[in-house]
Amino acid sequence: MTGVSLQFPITPNTDSHLSAVNWDNLPFGKIFSDHMFVMEYADGAWQQGEILPFGPIAMHPAMSAIHYGQSIFEGMKAYRNNHNEVVLFRPELNARRFSESAARMCMPEIPEELFLAAVKQLVAQDAGWVTNKPGYALYIRPFMFATDEFVGIKPSDTYKFVIITSPVGAYYAEPVRVKIEEFYTRAAVGGVGRAKAAGNYGASLYPAKQAQQEGFHQLVWTDAKTHTFIEESGTMNIMFVINNTLITPSEDADTILRGTTKRTVLEVAASFGIPIEERPVTVAEIIEAAKNGTLQDVFGAGTAATIAPIAIIGYRDEKLTLPALETREISLKIKDFLDGLKSGALPDTQHWIQKVC
Ligand SMILES: *Cc1c(COP(=O)(O)O)cnc(C)c1O
Repeated sequence: MTGVSLQFPITPNTDSHLSAVNWDNLPFGKIFSDHMFVMEYADGAWQQGEILPFGPIAMHPAMSAIHYGQSIFEGMKAYRNNHNEVVLFRPELNARRFSESAARMCMPEIPEELFLAAVKQLVAQDAGWVTNKPGYALYIRPFMFATDEFVGIKPSDTYKFVIITSPVGAYYAEPVRVKIEEFYTRAAVGGVGRAKAAGNYGASLYPAKQAQQEGFHQLVWTDAKTHTFIEESGTMNIMFVINNTLITPSEDADTILRGTTKRTVLEVAASFGIPIEERPVTVAEIIEAAKNGTLQDVFGAGTAATIAPIAIIGYRDEKLTLPALETREISLKIKDFLDGLKSGALPDTQHWIQKVC
């Protein structure tokens, strides 16, 4: 990083389309702010990054990312709080995970301070795109891909790191219907399931589409070998409440994405004195708990939706209906707490909030 400044040059967008945004009807992830951050990796080092007007990126047809999939991403959000400040929530966890994903995919890591400086300066530049409308945020999408112009399989020598941002409202308009998948696999032991690697999501589309045709929103992934242990729900971590205990699959296996939302939910629950179990979770125990009435809550945890209540679990030929949303005290209480931290209504005693501007 010698000679690389963390104060990035800016080419301002002279044609802002902020005033054209319809804030009452915002499709998720389709509208983008005025600027993007771009930084190249070449000659064994990250080069000077810059902020440019949002726009297309030229690419060579042999660009290795599109042929062999060296491509990773992150997902985070900026919020405007009650004090009119723009803030990030635990962004250092995203920076760290991005480097872990990079290492697994044989890509260059980005120093945490460089990643965070880029995110913060880009968000500050487009701060006008961060609304204080409840439930809204500026979704931040950092990503990196291999750019060698070479049709041959080897780790690329060159990469591009880009950050784009998109104003978003609620991710799911309704409680989620999920189906337990017993044939297809998201991730196998020794694979890349722990990395936010693009191919993981490409591989999930076909099985997810089958489930959507059966009326579900997404799949509950089970372990690749036996399909008897629960891993994740779509692109969220999955959490259960049984007999007032918060239970979630342990992430010791490298098949589960280490979510910042799940980690936060567990830490908040612990601070509330709620019993927690991070351990292997079997499909059988969840189905049994759903049938005998001890399963009080199931929800997905992820940055896009924060806490996404699950309404129905499909298992083989059955559809198990879960308790009414208003009865789900634990997840409601945790969500209220997190909303309070992000809005500035509650004091940030954990130091999870980082101010952008
Ligand atoms: C991003 C992601 C999550 C959630 O991670 P957060 O850090 O909470 O946003 C969970 N599972 C998968 C597969 C993911 O890609």
